[in-house]
Amino acid sequence: MTPTQVPHRRLLIGSEWRDSLSGRTFETVDPATEEVLATVAEPDAADIDLAVRAARTAFDRGPWSTMRAAERARMLHRWAALIEAHQEELVLLESHDAGKPVAAVRRQDYPTVLDCLEYYAGWCDKITGDVVPVRPDALTYVRRVPVGVVAGIVPWNFPLMNAMWKMAPALACGCTVVMKPAAETPLSALRVGELALEAGLPPGVLNILPGPGPGPGMALVTHPGIDKITFTGSPAVGKLIMERAAVNVPRITLELGGKSPNIVFDDADLDAAVRAATAGVFFNSGQVCSAGTRILVHEAIHDEFTARLVERAKNLKVGDPRAADTYLGPLVSQKQLDRVLGYVERGLSEGATLRSGGSRLAGPGYYMEPTVFSDVDNTMALGREEIFGPVASVMRFTDDDEAVAMANDSPYSLAAALWTNDLTRAHTVAGRIRAGTVWVNTYGQSDNRLPWGGLGGDSGVGRDLGSSALENFTDRRTVWVSLAPRR
Ligand code: NAD
Repeated sequence: MTPTQVPHRRLLIGSEWRDSLSGRTFETVDPATEEVLATVAEPDAADIDLAVRAARTAFDRGPWSTMRAAERARMLHRWAALIEAHQEELVLLESHDAGKPVAAVRRQDYPTVLDCLEYYAGWCDKITGDVVPVRPDALTYVRRVPVGVVAGIVPWNFPLMNAMWKMAPALACGCTVVMKPAAETPLSALRVGELALEAGLPPGVLNILPGPGPGPGMALVTHPGIDKITFTGSPAVGKLIMERAAVNVPRITLELGGKSPNIVFDDADLDAAVRAATAGVFFNSGQVCSAGTRILVHEAIHDEFTARLVERAKNLKVGDPRAADTYLGPLVSQKQLDRVLGYVERGLSEGATLRSGGSRLAGPGYYMEPTVFSDVDNTMALGREEIFGPVASVMRFTDDDEAVAMANDSPYSLAAALWTNDLTRAHTVAGRIRAGTVWVNTYGQSDNRLPWGGLGGDSGVGRDLGSSALENFTDRRTVWVSLAPRR
């Protein structure tokens, strides 16, 4: 099925596909062609309320939260098998809706989605509690219980992958879910919602209502029926959610932005470092939270490194996401393209040196050249703010202390990398950089089994993935059983 064969999409509420109560719709556009792919029912607070109630009923009455854990696992595995059977359809859908190169979705997004669901399906019957011996006349134990109704909000850069990072662990723990995918990229989540029903997920366990943020998104996170919010997106919206949701005191996980330093020491394998730095900043057209946008290079190799980076950037293929050799597709929207071009202007006005790229490419489609600036420092917008586009900033340092200080001089703390062949330096610097993930002699690796998230500030709080995500969706209940003889 191609996106255009389903020109109108509805909302998944309970086990039904519904138009919004208001009858309003929005359009989702192919960023490569600027053509409308489909109209989608646009939810508002009333639709969100229906979905939260459906999720609440499903949670309170069961059977999802009360069924045998092995049975829940079997259902999630059935869902995974259906996702696997629809691989090519889902890859194409994602590529059209988000403008992502089909080769990258096939190689990265899609396998991660499938693996994520299978990984957490495996957890269902392995979430154990503790017996804590307190005194001889009592049996005291701690059960892990699902937190309840989960609100998931995700952005458009890895639409299905980010959605699955929320849905799979929440469902595995026995929670019910209301997902709000981004309005830019609603299609893949809606399609896997159909497959979830086909796999037998009971009504109300998974609800999917894509749409704009301020209306339905805010209605969801401030709904008193929500027990847990798991959000991925910008720092500004994350902070707003934390503030506005506070009235209900829900549990909150925020996966926010990044401005990741990629430090190249003078003893590094230069070929490998240049290759990885190029991918680290230009993969997915730079629309990656962990993009290595601040490339810190030791002064002894700075000029050679920068020249090689520029050479590679100029040779990256930008174009049709459906062509097998395309590396950079379009940006997701005109708005995002304007934002990124605005940063190029600011970089020039702040005195950075434009080494390559910097311009929009001829349309249709929101295409932009891979762009490299040098002579950047942390006081410039290029060095401080998350651009979320194909823009690399090269900075110069003289010694390890300066590199660490520059790396840590940022409101972000999501990820970082360093390149060196000195074992002592590798571990020492990895321990001094403030980041949730530090890569050594590689860039951008992640796995569903490893926790992912920032260390606070504009990168957010809490962890997705790994066994850490189970903490997000379970609580601990203490049970005290008196064993004292009855009189
Ligand atoms: P965004 O914050 O504008 O939107 C993210 C989601 O929040 C969307 O679904 C949007 O509709 C919704 N939203 C927007 N305003 C809202 C509101 N007032 N109330 C409730 N929901 C609202 O972010 P974006 O521009 O779509 O995505 C890019 C951002 O996401 C970047 O900052 C990027 O670093 C971050 N991101 C982080 C990670 C991570 O793992 N840390 C992963 C991917 C993206």
